[in-house]
Amino acid sequence: MTRGGIFIALGSNLGDRRANLEAAVSAIGALSGYSVLKRSRWIETDPVGGPPQGRFLNGVIEIDTPDSPRACLNRLLEIEQALGRVRRERWGPRTIDLDILLWRNESIEEEGLRVPHPRMTERAFVLEPLAEVLPGVAG
Ligand code: ATP
Ligand code: MG
Ligand code: MG
Repeated sequence: MTRGGIFIALGSNLGDRRANLEAAVSAIGALSGYSVLKRSRWIETDPVGGPPQGRFLNGVIEIDTPDSPRACLNRLLEIEQALGRVRRERWGPRTIDLDILLWRNESIEEEGLRVPHPRMTERAFVLEPLAEVLPGVAG
């Protein structure tokens, strides 16, 4: 039985945005023990914060994994790297951003890992696709 309840936000505004998001979903689904249970549509959004930059394509997926939140974060950061993510300035343009939004009903406050994602509730580019895969979240 799959449990799910783990929600990942995806965003891209460099290169072939759609291909980047699709490649990330494929890479996550290919991780040992992981499954992608639901996926939102991809929506085009204006950048929020950071320098002037191109529009984003954003979405949210629900996954299941036997990994711990920390191990999952590390896998996601590896996938970002593999897809060419380069960190220059905060909130700068990126080929792919993979953020853990929710981890079941857990609250995590560690160095480099905060869940629920602390800025998710102020971001329409997260809440809109999240509502597609987590009915009830947007009331
Ligand atoms: P934001 O967090 O505002 O969306 P960002 O996604 O652009 O900004 P990144 O450069 O992708 O920020 O990530 C910086 C660090 O954030 C990561 O190395 C990771 O350790 C940390 N981090 C903390 N909580 C989370 C989380 N829930 N999901 C992903 N990364 C997180
Ligand atoms: Mg982010
Ligand atoms: Mg991030």
